[in-house]
Amino acid sequence: MENPRDTSPLTADAWVRRMRSWGVRPSKSKGQNFLLDHEVVARIADAAGISPGDRIVEIGPGLGVLTEELLRRGANLTAIELDDSLAPHLKRHFHDEPAFRLIHGDATSVTPIDVVASDVPFRIVANLPYSVATRIIRHWLESEHPPIELVVMVQQEVADRMTAAAGDMSLLGLAIQLHTHAEYLFAVPSEAFHPPPKVTSAVVRLRTTNNQSMDRQATERLFQLATIAFRHKRKTIANSLSRDLEIDKATLVDRLNDAGIDGTLRPQALDLDTWIRLSRIELDLT
Ligand code: SAM
Repeated sequence: MENPRDTSPLTADAWVRRMRSWGVRPSKSKGQNFLLDHEVVARIADAAGISPGDRIVEIGPGLGVLTEELLRRGANLTAIELDDSLAPHLKRHFHDEPAFRLIHGDATSVTPIDVVASDVPFRIVANLPYSVATRIIRHWLESEHPPIELVVMVQQEVADRMTAAAGDMSLLGLAIQLHTHAEYLFAVPSEAFHPPPKVTSAVVRLRTTNNQSMDRQATERLFQLATIAFRHKRKTIANSLSRDLEIDKATLVDRLNDAGIDGTLRPQALDLDTWIRLSRIELDLT
């Protein structure tokens, strides 16, 4: 290919022509809704703030729309594409671009340390396949070599849950905010894609926070408690936890009070710090 740094972005029609010439029929099961609106592509790249030489992992390059923009801005890019029919085209198309490397594989199961060396900081920039977006994000965030930041497009409802504040907290919100500062950036209408998805999309920035106080065991404890509490969203945390953990309610309420936690709250009302304090209360979870 011509070096993307020397070429202008393609029009939406030209991307559809590329799709046809590659013989690609968008697959629903692989979440193939290709982004064709260059303004949106540029906004994602702006949000990622690429400087020449930055190590970027792009998950699901598809036709290479975002890939070309990231390369144009000087990224050193590793793309991971699952689709057997797209991978050979991507390899051929980008073969003379030295800053591009393709891994033909599944982003939910590759080992991040095999993709980027353990001492090299990297970011993920992607328009994710929606059905596995949270699995992909958690797989990378909870790995031994997490990215320092992710700028990713997901379905709007998932973006809302990942970035929710106390009052709308969910298990997903907790899982994401335990590892990152999560920020909602902007919505993207379905007309920006081919074929248009049935849902609105949104871009989020997840900046890894390195929560030193939470080791693996502490994190597991937190999720054990949160899973119980979110199982009964309409119940107060004191009621759900005392019932499922078979603890006397008055004793539990005393321990919650000692930790400065109001046991009459429902699980979605607690923010991350409160969940962390709750996970430190002495309770038998076995
Ligand atoms: N980045 C392109 C764009 O913006 O037009 C394509 C985005 S499309 C929403 C999702 C892409 O992820 C598709 O190319 C699909 O084949 C790929 N994909 C789906 N599941 C995947 C997985 N588990 N690992 C890697 N890529 C995957």
